[in-house]
Amino acid sequence: MAYQITSQCISCKLCQPICPTGAIKIEEDGRHWIDQKLCTNCADTVYTVPQCQAGCPTCNGCVKVPSDYWEGWFEKYNRVIAKLTKKQDYWDRWFNCYS
Ligand code: SF4
Ligand code: SF4
Repeated sequence: MAYQITSQCISCKLCQPICPTGAIKIEEDGRHWIDQKLCTNCADTVYTVPQCQAGCPTCNGCVKVPSDYWEGWFEKYNRVIAKLTKKQDYWDRWFNCYS
């Protein structure tokens, strides 16, 4: 299953040069997109994780294309929960630092 670029992308251009198959394209307006025919999930390369996702500063700029509705639903759910959890961590750290 290939990867895709989401609306979270800030067009930082970090992912394009590190893609081993040249699957990440940039439109004239700066919008990034992934050619699904070229994306191999970085399988069969020296990398053990998808490079576009690993290097993305937004964390959710490059995500795997869900194979069906429920896989997509759970991925989105897990991302939202992770954000909420991180906020909790942030406030825990803030409280420990300033209390
Ligand atoms: S998963 Fe790998 S091959 Fe696919 S777009 Fe990302 S960096 Fe390129
Ligand atoms: S690394 Fe992430 S934010 Fe930067 S261009 Fe690629 S998808 Fe967009």
